[in-house]
Amino acid sequence: MTSASGFKATVLTLYPDMFPGHLGASLAGKALERGQWSIDAVQIRDFSEDKHRTVDDTPAGGGAGMVLKPDVLARAIDSLGEDDRPRLLMSPRGKPLTQEKVRELAAKDGVVIVCGRFEGVDQRVIDARLLEEVSIGDYVLSGGEPAALTLLDAVVRILPGVMGNALSGTHESFENGLLEHPQYTRPQVFEGREIPPVLTSGNHGAIEKWRLEQALRLTARRRPDLLPKDD
Ligand code: SAM
Repeated sequence: MTSASGFKATVLTLYPDMFPGHLGASLAGKALERGQWSIDAVQIRDFSEDKHRTVDDTPAGGGAGMVLKPDVLARAIDSLGEDDRPRLLMSPRGKPLTQEKVRELAAKDGVVIVCGRFEGVDQRVIDARLLEEVSIGDYVLSGGEPAALTLLDAVVRILPGVMGNALSGTHESFENGLLEHPQYTRPQVFEGREIPPVLTSGNHGAIEKWRLEQALRLTARRRPDLLPKDD
């Protein structure tokens, strides 16, 4: 479980200045100030041992681009010492990140995240340091940093006490296996479009029923893969 000193994120990157990035603002930023979580960005290049501070080399077997060297990254990981936090590598080849995985990570003491660059990371350090590859979607970014920030955003917002209204985390997309129902607020009429009358009826049973129906309809239309299969 998350310790009293907060959730501890360590990010291994060639661009430490990208952290905490947007996580230094808004609710995550306030939680960072309060010590509910912390982030440490470690410069991988500091673990290069040659005078040019080399971190990459050409791919074995030929081909375009460069590959992050295993020895340099291994030293960076080992510098963290005894550490039983999950070790992730952001990678388009990884398992897709889900809300379930986010919840699993949020229940730990913290996480170590490796951000790839170039064509990727030498497979031997992935295997030797048991890095779990995680993808944020079926597209290719130029580096793992925005992916790490995305993952941490999702984790930090569900840490205990981070969100002002604790309930707002529980009716959301994916929390019950469905996309969220549509949301409305005042004014009552916007450009001729009214708030659905049921939502202002005060009938909580009818509101819950409407929301569930809407969530089911939206999920069936946009993400039928999320619905249970009937076989
Ligand atoms: N050659 C790699 C491939 O085809 O799988 C792509 C490398 S990408 C240009 C550089 C780095 O960006 C990756 O090592 C990874 O850390 C990060 N990255 C790119 N797309 C990502 C995604 N969808 N999810 C997580 N990380 C991603």
